Amino acid sequence: MGIMRAFFIYLSHRRELEGLFMKFAPTRNLAMRFVAGETLEDAINVVRELNEKNIFGTLDHLGENVTSKEEAIEAANEYIRILDEIERNKVKSHASLKLTQMGMDISFDFCYDNVRRVVERAAQYNNFIRIDMEDSSYTDRTLETYYRLHEEFGNHVGVVIQAYLYRSEQDIKNLIEVGANVRLCKGAYKEPPDIAFPKKKDVDANYIKLLKMLLDAHEKGVHTAIATHDERIINFAENYIKSNEIPDHSFEFQMLYGIRRDLQLEIARKNYTMRVYIPYGTEWYPYFMRRLAERPANVFFVVKNLFKG
Ligand SMILES: Cc1cc2nc3c(=O)[nH]c(=O)nc-3n(C[C@H](O)[C@H](O)[C@H](O)COP(=O)(O)OP(=O)(O)OC[C@H]3O[C@@H](n4cnc5c(N)ncnc54)[C@H](O)[C@@H]3O)c2cc1C
Repeated sequence: MGIMRAFFIYLSHRRELEGLFMKFAPTRNLAMRFVAGETLEDAINVVRELNEKNIFGTLDHLGENVTSKEEAIEAANEYIRILDEIERNKVKSHASLKLTQMGMDISFDFCYDNVRRVVERAAQYNNFIRIDMEDSSYTDRTLETYYRLHEEFGNHVGVVIQAYLYRSEQDIKNLIEVGANVRLCKGAYKEPPDIAFPKKKDVDANYIKLLKMLLDAHEKGVHTAIATHDERIINFAENYIKSNEIPDHSFEFQMLYGIRRDLQLEIARKNYTMRVYIPYGTEWYPYFMRRLAERPANVFFVVKNLFKG
């Protein structure tokens, strides 16, 4: 792992620095390129604008690793508001949440009941909740939560697999058996070399391998969200989809708000389903640090702006 990447992931855990970064105009401005605003209303407006361009949304209320039950319950309530507002405004969007925001650090059962409330509401609206994947200490608990919810609510809930983990191939085999809806991403956390590929080229190769497994399983009801900005992988996916006649309803492309908008539009214009992950809220610090870790050039942007006066 590059030093810069490790450094920003380290910073993402140093929550005491949050206040400093949030007040500092250049970092704040850059963060706002990746975040749709502070309120749900801001976020719904962004979804509406994207929908006009044939792009779908998945809304994320920023927040993770909450330590009190009150905060976790409030986070679940906010997701219920998200689902209500999507319905009321008739915009095309799902929602994505993190289990540590729903109280996973407090207790499994408490978290389960909390997230279940959200998924139940999504099912009522015939909508969908994606459970994001966090660092590897949560992988088992996240999959367990997913399987239980999937049993009750079917494909109103989906999960995420990270191509950098060695275990992911086996996890994908298991998920294929239940006809899961899986978002495949590379992985955004810092993981040791005994559980994750340390080299980017191995992560990329594993991504392609897992992607093929998922796409090939469309007959089992598997839905694949191809979540990457990597053009090489996107080109590979397009060719594979065409030559293997993978049906349109069994996959979609996903990218993050503010990253490669040109590519997002290009994919939408080709009439593929293109969905953008849209975070909003005030708790943008750890999310933003992971985005800096992915691309050190973003840091130079902050530094450059420092000298602009
Ligand atoms: C919709 C979506 C959902 C995700 N959900 C999760 C999740 O639940 N759990 C998880 O661990 N990770 C998640 N991720 C993050 C993912 O794991 C990667 O960290 C991230 O997508 C960067 O990898 P990449 O696939 O874009 O490829 P990379 O090889 O890292 O990047 C390819 C190209 O994309 C562009 N790019 C990538 N990142 C940035 C950036 N930050 N700023 C500017 N340009 C950039 C650059 O042009 C770069 O050359 C998600 C990503 C997406 C798109």
